[in-house]
Amino acid sequence: MEQDFAYMDHAATTAVDPKVLEAMLPYFSEKYGNPSSIYSLAGESRQAIDDARKTVAEIIKADPREIIFTSCGSESDNAALRGIAYANQARGKHIITTQIEHHAILHTCQALEKRGFEVTYLPVNHDGVVDLEALKKAIRPDTILISVMMANNEVGTVEPIAEIGEIIKGTQIIFHTDAVQAMGSLPIDVNELGIHALSMSAHKFYGPKGVGVLYVKRGTRFEPQQTGGGQENRRRAGTENVPGIVGLATALKMAYDNRKERNAHLIHLRDRLLKEIPAKIELCHVSGPVDGNRLPNNASFVFEQVEGESILLHLDMYGIAASSGSACTSGSLEPSHVLKAMSIPIEIAHGSLRLSLGKDNTEEHVDRVLEVLPNIINTLRAMSPLANSH
Ligand SMILES: *Cc1c(COP(=O)(O)O)cnc(C)c1O
Repeated sequence: MEQDFAYMDHAATTAVDPKVLEAMLPYFSEKYGNPSSIYSLAGESRQAIDDARKTVAEIIKADPREIIFTSCGSESDNAALRGIAYANQARGKHIITTQIEHHAILHTCQALEKRGFEVTYLPVNHDGVVDLEALKKAIRPDTILISVMMANNEVGTVEPIAEIGEIIKGTQIIFHTDAVQAMGSLPIDVNELGIHALSMSAHKFYGPKGVGVLYVKRGTRFEPQQTGGGQENRRRAGTENVPGIVGLATALKMAYDNRKERNAHLIHLRDRLLKEIPAKIELCHVSGPVDGNRLPNNASFVFEQVEGESILLHLDMYGIAASSGSACTSGSLEPSHVLKAMSIPIEIAHGSLRLSLGKDNTEEHVDRVLEVLPNIINTLRAMSPLANSH
């Protein structure tokens, strides 16, 4: 019998939900007007964007005027860091972030360092939780911006965002969070969390690729990084990706309407993997928290004496799609910067496996992983020179 494909790489991207696609389709070739034009065809596009902006704002408890549509999560991160750093540099040039951010944040921080900004990269503990004492100590009179991700894309750790919002209350420090992995599964109220800027990306919650959001709280000094027309309240020039924006809002609304049921399903499957894989395979460790302080869909591991890439190739032969480290670092021999920051020894970090679940995964998919993974690891270890020295 042919097995269906077990896609377990939802942290890398997700399939567009059929209902999302259906909502997008009219905006390609029927309702194709440029939202900035004057006739009624354009009005339909403008209305669609206005509606999408309201939907997104309602979900994160923001004002629609605070929502900027972008081309992806990476653009949102870039625009947030550069836009806030450049607009506020008269007050200081110090930025605080963490060692486990996505490269869209880390590489942007490195670029800002070349432009005269100073960046503190906070350490994390063995579970990947940012050190709040280190954060408090890092704050200086010239600190203008703190950027800490809401949840980590490799190991699923949920960061203490509300606590950071509390720490900076009463200061002039601007707080940005990369919520790309968290959107859809964690409840988000930007005011309650004390956030001034937030990034998200549609393709991580069953929306299309190539569209994202940057939330920027009113009153926050922000310098647009893309200039041209006056779109997005003069904060991001360029004719809007109308179908993409409609898709993003539709997918986000579906994610929050169904959040409880989707999370319950994901947590059940995740906990089976987290519990049963280390029970079946020796020299295997869960990476990230085991106490539930992790994304509902993330199950990550390290296996001693094997290469992560080899595990992925073998899983693929059984119709299982997974990832090792982050999608962006795989292909390079550098071990993950996230596992390194969590003080996982380099030799072990090479054997990392991330299974990131989605709404359409089934018990059967998990059964298959549990059935094939022990043999894969044993086979690889038998061939490994590392294992023989044991
Ligand atoms: C995927 C991801 C991004 C980048 O989003 P794109 O839309 O792919 O550019 C940024 N941050 C995190 C945490 C992510 O998981």
